[in-house]
Amino acid sequence: MTQTITVIRGDGIGPEIMDATLHVLDVLKAGLTYEEADAGMVALEKHGELLPQATLDSIRKNRVALKSPLTTPVGEGFSSINVALRRHFDLYANVRPAKSFPNTKSRFPSGVDLITVRENTEGAYIGEGQSLSEDGETALLTQKVTRKGSERIVRYAFDLARKTGRKKVTVVHKANILKTTSGLFLKVAREVAAQYPEIECNEMIVDNTCMQLVMRPEQFDIIVTTNLFGDIISDLCAGLVGGLGLAPGANIGTEAAIFEAVHGSAPDIAGKGVANPCALLLGAAQMLDHIGQPEKAERLRAAIIATLEAKDSLTPDLGGTGTTMSFAKAIASRV
Ligand code: ATP
Ligand code: MG
Repeated sequence: MTQTITVIRGDGIGPEIMDATLHVLDVLKAGLTYEEADAGMVALEKHGELLPQATLDSIRKNRVALKSPLTTPVGEGFSSINVALRRHFDLYANVRPAKSFPNTKSRFPSGVDLITVRENTEGAYIGEGQSLSEDGETALLTQKVTRKGSERIVRYAFDLARKTGRKKVTVVHKANILKTTSGLFLKVAREVAAQYPEIECNEMIVDNTCMQLVMRPEQFDIIVTTNLFGDIISDLCAGLVGGLGLAPGANIGTEAAIFEAVHGSAPDIAGKGVANPCALLLGAAQMLDHIGQPEKAERLRAAIIATLEAKDSLTPDLGGTGTTMSFAKAIASRV
């Protein structure tokens, strides 16, 4: 049986890393059929809009999309296409694994294996803030935290722990100061945690979490937190293990899920064939987990690790002289 997924090739280095990723998925015999859809600058040029209805329809129908980075031009009615996609499909869980990989220029080449689960729809990011005074010298930001929003994200984190055999969930908050918003999140998190007695739950204040992450990241397993804290923490975690070229992310809702690389379109190296395809490949591994092919996902991750260990055809960002495609082929030969 094959499964159809929506493939968005995107802008900048997007098409190059997507070609590389699809090549590896084909060698892996993941049994996928690709339905291509346009978004971003490419879509604007071809169809006159950044996010065509046909693309939304394709994602709604297939429920799963693999997406390369998209460029949002200034002044086209969108602050961000990525945010628009998350809103449209109510993709409430932003799931970002951070794992140590060998032969990367990172502070923690071993020992880190954690997943940040970030609430993606509320918190401090519901608006862009209001200006309080005419002169614009006083500003105010409203945060929204709901029981429903908190419950579904914490439940997602605990279910993920259960499904993947992880042992501990750390609830990251600032309830000592933000007593209402972060307080509600923490209260709901405790209630949900009680329903998962076999999984250890601990609570940590966000500022301490940042210090602990930098000093002893190996103590973390799954982190669950609100939108703003999750945004910052997940980038911090990507930095711990080697940066943008190795950081994937998933945006998951009940109707659809979109898998991607965390990095942008990297216009400075676009078209040169030297972009590191690993972030999108690792996003594809998350996708395979999501669609019920965890064994193929694991083979893909193992092949990436083996290729890094062998320093075979690594791209320049990893200190090698390989190309996007030669690196992908080296990975494909090990799946
Ligand atoms: P965008 O506006 O689309 O976010 P950007 O200019 O912010 O693009 P990023 O893609 O966020 O650029 O990347 C920041 C830096 O990291 C750039 O120098 C880029 O070349 C580098 N980089 C990002 N992704 C990769 C990758 N996959 N392989 C190699 N280098 C990368
Ligand atoms: Mg960027």
